[in-house]
Formats: sequence, structure tokens, C-alpha cells
Amino acid sequence: MVKQEYECIVCGKKFNEGQGIVLTKGSLKLTFHSSKCVSKFFKLYLERLDESCSEKSARDLIKELEKIREEKQKQTKKVIS
Ligand SMILES: [Zn+2]
Repeated sequence: MVKQEYECIVCGKKFNEGQGIVLTKGSLKLTFHSSKCVSKFFKLYLERLDESCSEKSARDLIKELEKIREEKQKQTKKVIS
């Protein structure tokens, strides 16, 4: 079985399939060798995004994550009591 080789788009380091982080969105394929490179990329990406649309998406996402956190807290409370 031949494993596909990817190249980190941030630092250029090569890594095999199953390692690193590969994100696909439509025809866009983002390949990162480590989470450090992911955060570096998204920090730069955020700076380039149009604030009017990126702010809304970010706020929506924060709300969603808050809900998930609340659900998790409820579940752990149930386990304790
Ligand atoms: Zn990298």
C-alpha cells in the first residue's frame, strides 16, 4: 500500500498520510505537519478575512462551542451525583 505524501503549506515539511493535519474545504486542501502550523496559518488567515463576515462566523462558532461545553458539564455533573 502506497501512502500519500503531503507537504506542510506553512513550513514545507513533508509528512505521510495519517500523520499531520489535512483539512479540505471544497476544492481547497490545506495540509499541515503539526497543530503549531495550523494555528500559524489560521492566525494569518484571520487577519486577511473581511471583518464583517468573519466576525459573524466566529461569534456563531463561539456560541456553538459554548453549548457543547455546557452539555459536557451537565453530563459530568450527572456522573458525579
Ligand atoms: Zn509545518
